[in-house]
Amino acid sequence: MIEVKNLCKSFGDHRAVDDLSFVVRPGEVLGFLGPNGAGKTTTMRMIAGFIEADSGQIQVMGKDVAVEPMATKTMIGYLPEGAPAYGEMSVIKFLEFIADVRGLDGQYRQDRIDAVIARLQLQAVSQQRIETLSKGFKRRVGLAQALLHDPKILILDEPTDGLDPNQKFEVRNLIREIAAEKIVIISTHILEEVDALCQRLIIVSQGQLVADGTPAELKLTSKYHKAVEIEVAEPSSYIELFAACNGVAAVHVSEDNAQTLVLEPEAGAELLAPVQEILAANEIKVQAVSVSGGRLDDVFRRVTAAEQPRNG
Ligand code: ATP
Repeated sequence: MIEVKNLCKSFGDHRAVDDLSFVVRPGEVLGFLGPNGAGKTTTMRMIAGFIEADSGQIQVMGKDVAVEPMATKTMIGYLPEGAPAYGEMSVIKFLEFIADVRGLDGQYRQDRIDAVIARLQLQAVSQQRIETLSKGFKRRVGLAQALLHDPKILILDEPTDGLDPNQKFEVRNLIREIAAEKIVIISTHILEEVDALCQRLIIVSQGQLVADGTPAELKLTSKYHKAVEIEVAEPSSYIELFAACNGVAAVHVSEDNAQTLVLEPEAGAELLAPVQEILAANEIKVQAVSVSGGRLDDVFRRVTAAEQPRNG
C-alpha cells in the first residue's frame, strides 16, 4: 500500500505539487494522468525517493520514505520518463551495474539478472550496446532494470511514450503480466492505455488532485455518458432532426469519425428508444447505433480546464 498525504514540492516560487493526497492499494494498477507540467514526474520521483518533498508524507508499505529511504527504495522499481540508460554499455553490463548499485550479490544476483533477461525476452540482445537497440527494446531494458531487485511496487513514467503501435502493444502486455503480482503506478497521456491497464486513475492539474476513481466511475461524469452514436451516411444532414428529439441536449458530428452523429443527452435522459423511433419513422438507413459509456478524454478536458499553458 502507498499512502501519499498532503504532499507539496516547489521549484523556486513555482508550486509543482500542491497538497496532493491519494492511496494506492495492493494489487492495483493506478493510472496517473494530467496535462504536461501538472506534477506527475515530480510526484513519482518523490515516491521513488529521488527527490525530497518540501512537506507532507509518503508511506510505502507502512514505512515513511523520508525516515526509512533505503527500506522504501528496496520495495520500489522505477522506470523514469524516456527510460534513460548508459547507451554505450551492453544490456548485460548495464543490468550487472544496476545489480551492483542495488547491492545484490552471490547467486541471487545472477538469478535475478537471468530472470529479468528471460522475463523481458532480452536474450538475443544481451551482448548488444543499448544505444544500438530499437526504442521498444530500450524500454524493455528499462523495465528489466526496474524489476531487477524484484520490487513489490513498480513506478512507470510514461512507459509507452514514443513507441510505435506494435511496441506499445508489447510493452502494455508486459505491464499487464507484471501487474498481476505488484502495485503499479503508471503516468501516461494516453487515455486508451488507462482503459487497457488501470483499475483506478487519478488526474492532477497544476499539482492538485482533480479526479480520483475507476475509469468507469469517471466516465459516468462525462457528458457523453449515455450519449447515442449513430453511424450513418452524411450525418450532418440529420442534425436538425435529432436536435428536436426529447431529451437531446446537443447534436454534432463526432470529432473522431466523420460518419458518426453524436447525440448528447440531457441529465438522466434515455435516448435510445426515441432515437430508434425517429430512425424507423423516417426510414433512415444506419450502419450502427450504440450507447456510449462516457469518454475519459471529455472528463480529462473538463477537470483540467483551469490549466493555463506554461513551459515545462
Ligand atoms: P509531463 O507530462 O510533461 O512529463 P509532469 O506532469 O510530469 O509533466 P513535472 O515534470 O512533474 O510535470 O513538472 C511539474 C512542474 O515543475 C513543471 O512546471 C516543471 O517545469 C517544473 N519542474 C520539474 N522539475 C523541475 C526542476 N528540477 N527545476 C525546476 N522546475 C521543475
